[in-house]
Formats: sequence, C-alpha cells, structure tokens
Amino acid sequence: MKKKPKRSRALRREADREQEKLAGAARRLHALEAGGSAEHPLELPSASVVEVDALGRRCGACGGDVKLVEHTVIEHEGRRLRVGRVSCKLCRAEWRWFYRIAAPN
Ligand SMILES: [Zn+2]
Repeated sequence: MKKKPKRSRALRREADREQEKLAGAARRLHALEAGGSAEHPLELPSASVVEVDALGRRCGACGGDVKLVEHTVIEHEGRRLRVGRVSCKLCRAEWRWFYRIAAPN
C-alpha cells in the first residue's frame, strides 16, 4: 500500500499563507499606484476604453491575466469615477482600477 502524502495538505496551506502575504503586500503597493485608488485615478479620454485598459493590466500578485468582473461608476468627492474591477485568472485575486474620464471638449 502506498503511503499517503501526509504533508502535502500542510504544505499547501503554508503556500496559501505565503501567497496571501504576498498578495497583501501587492495590494498595498497597488493602492499607491496611479489608478489603484479613488484618490489617484488614471485619466482616460473616454469611458469606452476603461475595460480595455483594466484588462490590459496584469494581476499585481502573480502577474497573471485578468478578466473583467464589472465596470461601475462611483462618486468620489463630488467627482464621477469609473471603476474597472477585474479578477486574476490564475490566483483569483481581485483588483480595482479607478479612472477619471476627461471632460469632452
Ligand atoms: Zn494573480
């Protein structure tokens, strides 16, 4: 009879914790980045490129491709911002990108 790999579960848990720690650090960095928070949104010429831009950015935790979760509009200090919420296809971390749409001329 084969021995069960007893430690694999514990190891996996440890790896998960490690991943979470990394994701936490990546998240703090993300919040400081342009577009990473409502305080410093990225500027875009039109709302139609919000999703394209958000999808073009990689997961801050593992560098994986992301998919769109939703595209919403929020009010922040009297300004309307677009939020592109994406999640990583690999580690499933969620990221929010904030955009200000330049006023049409
Ligand atoms: Zn990821």
